[in-house]
Amino acid sequence: TSQLLQKSEKLALLGQMAAGIAHEIRNPLTSIKGFIQLFKSDHLQDEYYDIVLSELDRINEIVGEFLVLAKPSAAVLVEKDVKVLIKEVVTFFNSQSILKNVQIFVEYESDLPMISCEENQLKQVFLNLLKNAIEAMPVGGTIEVKVMAKGEGHIAVQIVDQGVGIPEDRISTLGEPFYTTKEKGTGLGLMTCFKIIESHNGKLTFQSKEKVGTTVEIILPTITRQLLSMEISYNH
Ligand code: ADP
Ligand code: MG
Repeated sequence: TSQLLQKSEKLALLGQMAAGIAHEIRNPLTSIKGFIQLFKSDHLQDEYYDIVLSELDRINEIVGEFLVLAKPSAAVLVEKDVKVLIKEVVTFFNSQSILKNVQIFVEYESDLPMISCEENQLKQVFLNLLKNAIEAMPVGGTIEVKVMAKGEGHIAVQIVDQGVGIPEDRISTLGEPFYTTKEKGTGLGLMTCFKIIESHNGKLTFQSKEKVGTTVEIILPTITRQLLSMEISYNH
C-alpha cells in the first residue's frame, strides 16, 4: 500500500503542476489572441508587436524550464573548469547589467579542481541565479561571484547580492514551482536549479536578510569525487 500511496501522491503532484502550467500558459496566450485580433483592425501599432513578442518570450521561458527538467538527468557528463562556465554566463549578462546599474565581480581561488557536469544544465543554473540576483536589485548594486575549494572533494560557488532579500519563512520553501514575487516572474527558475544541482550530487543553499541581500551557495563534487561515487554505486 505504501507504494500505491506514493504513486497517487506523485500523480496528485503531477496534476497540480499540469494545472499550474496550463494556467501560466493560458494567460499569455489569451493576451496574444486579443492582440492578434486587433491586428485585423486598423489600429496597428508597434507597441502591440512588442507585447506579442514579450508574451511569446514568456511562453518560451516557461516551456524552456520544463524542457531542462524533462531531459534524462545528467545525460552527458563532461570534465569542466567551473571558472570557464561562470565567465561565459557573466559575459552573457554584460549589457543587461550595465543597463540595470549592476556590477558583477568574479573572484577565484587558484588551482581549483575540475568538476564533472552537464555543461548546458549547469550554465542554466548560473544564469537563473544571476538573473535573480540582478532582479533583486531594482536600483542596482554589486554582485560578487566567489569560487573556492570546499574540503577535499568539493568546490563552492557563492553568488552574493545586495538585493531586497528573502523573508526567513520563505527560504525553506524556495524551489516550489510557481512561487514568485515578480510581476513577470515564472516561479520556475529555482525549481530547475534545485533539480539540476541535485542530479549533479551537489547542494544549493540560501542565506538571506531582508533589505540587506542574499547569498546563494552551490556546492559541487569535484570530478574525482564524482567518479568515485559512481564507481561505488556501480559496485553495489
Ligand atoms: P522568478 O524569478 O521567475 O520569480 P525563481 O524560481 O527564480 O522565479 O525565484 C522565485 C522567487 O524567489 C522570486 O520571485 C523571489 O521572490 C525569490 N528570490 C530568488 N532569488 C532571490 C534573490 N537573489 N533575492 C531576492 N529574492 C530572490
Ligand atoms: Mg528567476
